[in-house]
Amino acid sequence: MEKSGELKNVVVPGDLIGVAEEFIPGPGTYEMNYQIRSAIVGRVVKDLRSKVVHIEPLKALKIPQPGAIVLAVVTEIREDFARVKIMAVNNVFTHYHFTGMLHVTQVVEKVGEVKHMFNYVRLGDLVRARVLNHAPPYLLSIRDPKLGVVLASCSKCGTALRLHGERLKCPQCGNVETRKIGHGYGER
Ligand SMILES: [Zn+2]
Repeated sequence: MEKSGELKNVVVPGDLIGVAEEFIPGPGTYEMNYQIRSAIVGRVVKDLRSKVVHIEPLKALKIPQPGAIVLAVVTEIREDFARVKIMAVNNVFTHYHFTGMLHVTQVVEKVGEVKHMFNYVRLGDLVRARVLNHAPPYLLSIRDPKLGVVLASCSKCGTALRLHGERLKCPQCGNVETRKIGHGYGER
């Protein structure tokens, strides 16, 4: 198993590694507009003597694939999308936290029902979602009835909300909130 400290230099395809004036692109990298970017998932290795930068592939890294089910924490909410940090892929926790994007059209099954993202997920929520594409940022969907928020805390006092019929209720202050709730809410 890798130690997390060794993974601080982990890059994903498209990440900027350096500029062409500084380094020579080596295996696992590509150059575009004088910028050297990573072509694979791996660790950056810079040889300061030869000036060659290359990427050492990380085979053990769990990478989201289309159809995979991920567990993610909501890090940003906008009117039409939420940005998330992917914590686990198919129930295996990942060392590297890939970024995922959940668009409001990928939340509910009926298009006419679509409202502000805030009605379905909120900051800090733990969400179970399906991956739609191959490369970061991963596009996610929670339209499946099984998918959605699996843990949320009260917007007023921060206590973990409990499932109360089709809504969530705060056991501390009684605040009632709505989410796009996934199966198995609060069961982890
Ligand atoms: Zn509360």
